Formats: sequence, structure tokens, C-alpha cells
Amino acid sequence: NQKQRTQVVIIGAGPSGSVAAALLHQQQIDVIVLEKSTFPRFSIGESLLPACMAVIEQANMLDAVTAAGFQLKDGAAFRYQDRYTAFDFNDKFTPGAGTTYQVQRGHFDKVLADEAVAQGVELRYEHTVEAIECLEGKSILTVTDEQQQPYMLEADFVLDASGFGRVLPQLLDLEKPSHLPPRQAIFCHVTDHIDSNHCKIEYDRNKILISVHPHSADVWYWLIPFSNGTCSLGVVAPPQWLASYGDDPLAVLKKLVNEEPGLATILADAQYPTSAATISGYSANVTQLATANYALLGNAGEFLDPVFSSGVTIAMKSAQLAAGVLTRAFAGESIDWQRDYAEPLMVGVDTFRTYVEGWYSGELQTVIFHSNPDPKIKQMICAILAGYAWDTNNPFVAQSQRRLAVVAALCAD
Ligand code: FAD
Repeated sequence: NQKQRTQVVIIGAGPSGSVAAALLHQQQIDVIVLEKSTFPRFSIGESLLPACMAVIEQANMLDAVTAAGFQLKDGAAFRYQDRYTAFDFNDKFTPGAGTTYQVQRGHFDKVLADEAVAQGVELRYEHTVEAIECLEGKSILTVTDEQQQPYMLEADFVLDASGFGRVLPQLLDLEKPSHLPPRQAIFCHVTDHIDSNHCKIEYDRNKILISVHPHSADVWYWLIPFSNGTCSLGVVAPPQWLASYGDDPLAVLKKLVNEEPGLATILADAQYPTSAATISGYSANVTQLATANYALLGNAGEFLDPVFSSGVTIAMKSAQLAAGVLTRAFAGESIDWQRDYAEPLMVGVDTFRTYVEGWYSGELQTVIFHSNPDPKIKQMICAILAGYAWDTNNPFVAQSQRRLAVVAALCAD
């Protein structure tokens, strides 16, 4: 006696799915979320950006997130050889929140999903979307339930929030290779035993630390502290470069931490788990982000690179944009999904793309590690690092490539 039709089906209950569901439900739009796993489940992507806080607030989830006791995050710090630079997210060009959290995603995603349910959203765990047929004005989904029984669900519109599951890109043949070269990440959670007051090297627990390998500038590490004495630790490098370090991910990670003296000092007393995870080939793109039948949110659309922790922010921003457009569509407005959804979303995605490419080309690193930065320029770059990549009042958003190239050339002199 489950419902067999609804206005909107959302595939996946990660951050983009839960937020979109809450925003649509607020507008009295009937929505069903289908999530193939049970929560909590592990997900990578643990460092948030302040720009996503406004979306969490709009979804009426801020109190729950604040109450969950996650680690405060007020900036990003970078280390390369003996250079250390910190960006304070309160000192940024764009108005808006200057702090956020670093979160264990199993817990965080459950908080958001539970909030959506508490607000009245129907969420079906262990329901997996297997197929879709897009028809004029509606779509028919084939779903298997927790007993592996298939059933059909009809929706006026489908939001694909399936993340790396990339359900609609695969089912509808929308996959397009990313322009970014393949990279691999190795990561784990360590019990860090960092004594912030007596650390022998500059270290701030309220900031994500991005360290660059001292001899290979395209290899970098993340250190994302949590509030319970553990940190997420990871390294990102070209797969062929990593291959020479052996095939035990934990041993490779430890070896690489020891090659970066700053990180080795900070983690001198850290306890490692018995294994590390690895993920590769995560950068992905699609031929089309939305049609009259569906829109792709977050990672189900384009995923760039983890270096600026932009994934969850892009996911939430896409949920906010799509929910707004859908609300207008159900109110009878005529919608052009390319103009009204894809193009506004890409403003921020393209800004991050410039900075991701600039990071790996070395241009952005030249700017970030410059010893005497111009305070105004630093604030503009800081706003982007804080996730305000859609603020076209910021010249480093509006003309991202040109501005970055000019500043990098000045810094290189
Ligand atoms: P997800 O959070 O992936 O949720 C998708 C959900 O869909 C899952 O729960 C899944 O079970 C469900 N699903 C999948 N298939 C189906 C199906 N067929 N039917 C029903 N349900 C389905 N981002 C950051 O913001 N900060 C970071 O520090 C960061 N670090 C990263 C490090 C690495 C190495 C990588 C690869 C990514 C990182 N990211 C980071 C990106 C981040 O992981 C993603 O951008 C983010 O999780 C996307 O959220 P989402 O809501 O789109 O999807």
C-alpha cells in the first residue's frame, strides 16, 4: 500500500537529497526520497565550507547541525616546505557566514536526513533506483525495496542526488569524461593525539590543513580535525606516482606523511587504524545537467576535485537552486532548465574549476604561499575558499581565470 506516484522523487539521501527534500516539502510539494543504504553510512567529504550554512538554515536544519557537536571550522591553512599560510574565513570579501563545521559524514548525513523526515518528508531506506523511463511530463522509476522486490513509482520530476552512484548519468547515458587528469586519494581516520598548545609547529585545530608534498607540488594532503580527538587524513596524487610506493594503502599513507616534515611533526603521536581506504577516478562530468524530466544535483552532475572541499557546498547549492526552480515550475511558470538551473549552478562550479586547475598548474599555489599578500586580494580569494563562488561582485569570481593569471604573474616576480 505504498504510494505509487508523487510530484518529485529524489534519488539518494546525502546532503543534496535531504536538503532538496526539505526545501520542496516547505513549499507543500509532495516528495519521496529513495536511499539505497541504511544510515549512518560512511561517506568521504568531511570538511564543509561556510557558504553552505545559509542553505542548511533555509532547510530549517541549522539547529540540529549546531546541536550535533561537530568540530568548528573557521578557515583553511596551507603548508608547503617551510611556508605556512592561514585564511580566516571571517576576513573575506563576500558577506555571509564565516564559520562552519568539519563533520563525520555518517553522522552529519543522518542528522540532515532525520531532520527532513521530522519535517514530514517520506524517506525510504534500502530502496534502490534501478531504471527510469522518461515520458512526456512524467517519469516512471523501477525501484527495488528492502526485500529486493521491484515496484514502479511515477513522478512529475526526478532529482538525482545519488552522488558517486551517478544513477541517471549511467541509466540515461549522460556520462562525459572530466577534463581533469585522474587522481587517487588514500585516506583514513587517525586518533591524532595533537596537543594544540604544545605543538612544535604552527597548527590550528579550527582549520583544515592542506599540506603540499615538499618535492612534488601536485601531491597534497588533507588533515581534517574532528571534535572527538580524531582527524580525517588523506593524500591525493596521480595514480602512477602513488604506484611506486607499493600497494598497501595504509603503508603508503604513512610513508607519505613521513615525507612531509610539517605533517609528520603534527601527527608524531597519532594512532593509525589497521587499514586505509582508497578512491580514484572520481572527477566526472555529464553531457546535460537537467531536462524537463530531471535535474542532477551535487556529485551526480559534475565533480571536480577535493582540494577546496567544495563538494558538499556545490551539492547543497544545487539542491537550493533546483528546489527554487521546481517550486516555480509547480506554480505554473514555464521553465528553461538550462537557463534557470544549469547556468546559475555553473557560475560557482566554473569558479572552483579555475582554482582547482590553478592549484595543479602552480598558479594558485604561487598566490597562496606568497609571503606578502595584498590584503584585499587575499579577502577575495578567501571568499572563494569559503565557498562564496557564486558571488559575481567578487572580481575573482566574475573574471576568475584572468584575475588569477594576473595575480599569479605578479606574485611570481
Ligand atoms: P552523496 O553524499 O554521495 O549521497 C548520495 C546518496 O545516494 C548515498 O547515500 C547513496 O547511498 C545514495 N544512492 C546511490 N545510488 C543510489 C540508488 N541507485 N538508489 C538510491 N540511492 C542511491 N566534499 C566536501 O564538501 N568536503 C570535503 O572535504 C571533501 N573531500 C572529498 C575527498 C575526496 C577524496 C573525494 C573523492 C570527495 C570529497 N568531497 C568533499 C566531495 C563529497 O564527497 C561529495 O561532493 C558529496 O558527498 C556529494 O554529496 P551528494 O549529496 O551529491 O551525494
